[in-house]
Amino acid sequence: MPSYRNVILGGGVAAGYAAQTYVERGREPGSLCIVTAEERVPYDRPPLSKDVLAGGMDPEEAVIEEIGFYVEHDVEVVTGSRVTSIDVDGRTLETADGEAIGWGNLLVATGSQVRRLDVPGEDRGNVFYLRTAGDAERILGAAEDAATAVVVGGSFIGTEVAASLTDFGLDVTQVYREDRLLKDRPLTAEMSAFYERVFREEGVDLRPGETVARFEGRARVSKVVLESGAEIEADLVVVGIGVVPDVEIFERTAIEIDDGIVVDDRLRTAIDGIRAAGDVARWPDAIFGRRRRVEHWDCARAQGEYWARAMTGEDEAFDYLVYFFSDAFDLSWEYWGDIEGAERVVYRGTLDDGSFSAWWLAEDRVLAAFVLDRPDEERDAAQRLIRSGRSVDADRLADEEAPLPE
Ligand SMILES: Cc1cc2nc3c(=O)[nH]c(=O)nc-3n(C[C@H](O)[C@H](O)[C@H](O)COP(=O)(O)OP(=O)(O)OC[C@H]3O[C@@H](n4cnc5c(N)ncnc54)[C@H](O)[C@@H]3O)c2cc1C
Repeated sequence: MPSYRNVILGGGVAAGYAAQTYVERGREPGSLCIVTAEERVPYDRPPLSKDVLAGGMDPEEAVIEEIGFYVEHDVEVVTGSRVTSIDVDGRTLETADGEAIGWGNLLVATGSQVRRLDVPGEDRGNVFYLRTAGDAERILGAAEDAATAVVVGGSFIGTEVAASLTDFGLDVTQVYREDRLLKDRPLTAEMSAFYERVFREEGVDLRPGETVARFEGRARVSKVVLESGAEIEADLVVVGIGVVPDVEIFERTAIEIDDGIVVDDRLRTAIDGIRAAGDVARWPDAIFGRRRRVEHWDCARAQGEYWARAMTGEDEAFDYLVYFFSDAFDLSWEYWGDIEGAERVVYRGTLDDGSFSAWWLAEDRVLAAFVLDRPDEERDAAQRLIRSGRSVDADRLADEEAPLPE
């Protein structure tokens, strides 16, 4: 049985950046192994719903490190290998082909699985979900011969896919249950209205407050029927209605699961040698004083890198301010913090012209900030003000002529 000092279960974003940092820190060759169900070395997922689906980027370009990097540094990557069971006491994993792999330290980085839409016709060949590079390639393959697409979901993946397929040249209808786009994730009503205006101007047919009743068509869907009775012609459908943490194989182990794998401030589970990172980890956020699980690229990257530093001698707690970004059409925004508990929002700049920032406050402390096409000093101030928890003058924050609070 092959055995490694350090094993990463899962080959996504957390794994890729963990391996990169591990190598940068000069660990001995042959001491790290990544086991992944995917047929590829770790890659970044954000480009899949953006440049890749718009037809402007090959998924291969999204790799975090090329295959040669792993060969050169003797990092074993076992691809196409789904782990089906884990023996915590014996410190072994077993894969679907019956291969056992031993570990000294294990990083669980299994990420998320897509939530499926439970309606008749969902199993047709032209109903797609988007999680992997393979999914993106299949959607693009279908888009080549398509004129129309229906995108189900009004959150991150839905909005990005609707924008990219429109850029690709399809007529896109976007159907979502909420009454507005990106509702509270993190857009306010005014911000959603701005986004919806841009989407409509770009040609997306938005259908808020609607849910899918069924997909019609023989082998392939040709029509989407909504609960309201509306019918939409579709050559292909992409569903983006959220994800769930991939914890199935840990359910019969002593690893604590509570909407993800519960870890401490060093990303450790209660079992010696096992940590978790990325979408699957529920960790204590010291800045906000609450446990959270984050389904975003930057957190997975930061936690993967943190693990590699911990495996190579560092012993500081994981210190992180939640951050994420999204791009659709020409709108690229960034966000820091957590809007939960916010009492008011102030804006800097003008919503209508697409250059503004939003600042969520509780009493006079900034909890979260959203920045769209603004000077770098606002990006810096967002992080500084949230982390410090210092009182700010909200009127001054909202006044573009006034300098940002120190
Ligand atoms: C299309 C798309 C666009 C995105 N865009 C953005 C964005 O713009 N901004 C942003 O902040 N975030 C974005 N995200 C989210 C971000 O990519 C994720 O948060 C990130 O990938 C999480 O990293 P991870 O390593 O935890 O999991 P993943 O990257 O999902 O990797 C998990 C890996 O584990 C493997 N695995 C799971 N179970 C097993 C098993 N039993 N055996 C073997 N292998 C297993 C999987 O095959 C996969 O390779 C996007 C996600 C997607 C899908």
